[in-house]
Amino acid sequence: MIKGPKTRFLKVRCKGCNNEQIIFNRPATRVECLVCGSLIAEPTGGLGSIRTKIIEVLE
Ligand SMILES: [Zn+2]
Repeated sequence: MIKGPKTRFLKVRCKGCNNEQIIFNRPATRVECLVCGSLIAEPTGGLGSIRTKIIEVLE
């Protein structure tokens, strides 16, 4: 398994309202659900920390 500094887009589903949203996997700032405002991802140095369910990884 090769781990690299690849950036990807992720399709995620909000835990709060089931809204589906496309987010960047290395967010520079906190990402919140556009519908209910729940925290979806936050920046953590390298890879962002995804706080909700990832449905799909888009390449
Ligand atoms: Zn939501």
